[in-house]
Amino acid sequence: MLSTTQAGVTGNGHRSRRSQREAGRGDPSAVSAEASSPAVPSPATMLPPNLPRICLALQAETVAELLAKAEQAAHDNLLLELRLDYLKHPESALPRIRQFLHSWPEAQLIATCRRQTLGGKFRGSLDAELSLLLHAAQAGCRFVDLELESAERADARALAGLRRQTRLILSHHDFERTRPPDSYFERMRRFAPAVYKLAFTARNFADNLTLDRFVRAHAAAYPVVALAMSEWGLPSRILSLRAGAIFTFASFSPGEETAPGQLDIATLRRLYRVDDLNRATRVYGVLGYPVSHSLSPHMLNAAFQRESINAVYLPLAAKKAEEILEAAHEIPLNGFSITLPHKSALLARMNGLDPLAGKVGAINTVIRSNGKLYGYNTDVAGILGPLEQRLPMRAARVLILGAGGAARAAAFGLKARGAEVWLLNRTAARAATLGRQARTHVVRRSDLKKLSVDVVINATPVGQTPQISHTPLSADELKALKPKIVFDLVYNPLDTQLLRLAREAGAATIPGFEMLVAQGARQFQLWTGKPAPVDLMRHILLSQLASVKA
Ligand code: NAP
Repeated sequence: MLSTTQAGVTGNGHRSRRSQREAGRGDPSAVSAEASSPAVPSPATMLPPNLPRICLALQAETVAELLAKAEQAAHDNLLLELRLDYLKHPESALPRIRQFLHSWPEAQLIATCRRQTLGGKFRGSLDAELSLLLHAAQAGCRFVDLELESAERADARALAGLRRQTRLILSHHDFERTRPPDSYFERMRRFAPAVYKLAFTARNFADNLTLDRFVRAHAAAYPVVALAMSEWGLPSRILSLRAGAIFTFASFSPGEETAPGQLDIATLRRLYRVDDLNRATRVYGVLGYPVSHSLSPHMLNAAFQRESINAVYLPLAAKKAEEILEAAHEIPLNGFSITLPHKSALLARMNGLDPLAGKVGAINTVIRSNGKLYGYNTDVAGILGPLEQRLPMRAARVLILGAGGAARAAAFGLKARGAEVWLLNRTAARAATLGRQARTHVVRRSDLKKLSVDVVINATPVGQTPQISHTPLSADELKALKPKIVFDLVYNPLDTQLLRLAREAGAATIPGFEMLVAQGARQFQLWTGKPAPVDLMRHILLSQLASVKA
């Protein structure tokens, strides 16, 4: 019986004996080793135990800068890729690598010196690349990264020499698109590398699913790393770990990416908690396009962490509703938020619908349970929650400005609570339609002075950044309406001109971020069955909004 280390099992539990038996194919020296002792894995393919789940890709123009970053990074993460090809004189790094490993003997260094023709920065020949990698291995690098295309062209003896010194990460990069991964994987198997690395470029959401499928199919038997580059590929950088990939790549800090779409280590660790991901991790996300600006990942990941729930919430950029449904069942997603442009389109694809969401005609939250999808509209709770904390809505008189998606949620939600509602909208016909559907009054601007209300809700974007001096109602109109409460759904800026005028008119005010928090809290509750840590979510959101402003 082989010990765990002998069998080549990593700290993450990967690497079976089957993969160890693959060792040596295509490499003459390794083949003979396998023939003489088939059960003993080659040191060239055994992975060190407790390999970190993040490989920090380091790049700099000078050796001093590169090693200074490695020093700083090693305190936090011991798996480091040194991109020697970014250096003006890569060979000058070798003595400094030895020195570094003297101070950090437990550091796992990957040396990479990718040539320009394969997307790197090294201008030398393949022989020069191999020679540099060999010297890096002799200096103590525990891995070298060599491209599949280079391995296929390399002199067999040079390759065998390299493998005697260190472990080979065989990589393939495609900077244009995502192709079927299996043909590359088959070509790689000939070389029996220690790690199989595929980095494609995602052009849409579905490309993440292609890589996820690949990792799920092979990770139990082979140490794979599979990533989709570009902003479309963000999910793959996190979900590949859940599917069983041995590590993912991160940049040292934002702006220092060595590949398009690479996330920085702090984001991977603190926001997405990738060190804790496992097969049991439940996956949630916000689907739509664009989603990169969404604050929900900050708010909901913090809530999952606070409540010790093994779940992650991702921005899932998807242009097509079909991609969302495919992801929902394939990843599978346990639930998701839906943003523009899919809020109405997906409604008809649900297996069940919250009655109020059906009336509003839009869903923003989906629960997936036993393979079925159930749609909800938590914008309703996002509006009612903050209002009802201050005033009962039964028989309250409410003026809603706008007749779009948020106004619909407000109108149907308030009517369900027994409020009396008036609508005022720029396009009168739209207000008339919503008024008929939700059984509200409709008011013209010229008639506003005849009205007095308890609550005004702004469900238009008027006053939003950058037009922060605009207001949907004048000071005189507000004074005439005499509202007790003014709720501005605009959340950027935090304090709007309308809210300032409302305070001057003696009204209590509710800023738009309260709706963001309340609708997110309702999502959390729907997905987990637990009350949300609302104070934490509010705190996280406020600090995010403050940093957006800065
Ligand atoms: P929407 O569906 O596009 O509807 C926008 C509404 O605003 C329409 O009734 C439109 O009138 C009106 N409008 C747009 N520009 C206007 C202008 N310059 N002057 C007067 N009226 C104007 O948008 P929505 O999804 O309902 O969102 C509305 C606002 O609520 C946005 O600012 C959004 O950020 C905010 N919101 C906040 C939250 C939150 O969590 N705090 C959630 C959802 C929405 P027409 O019919 O004439 O085009």
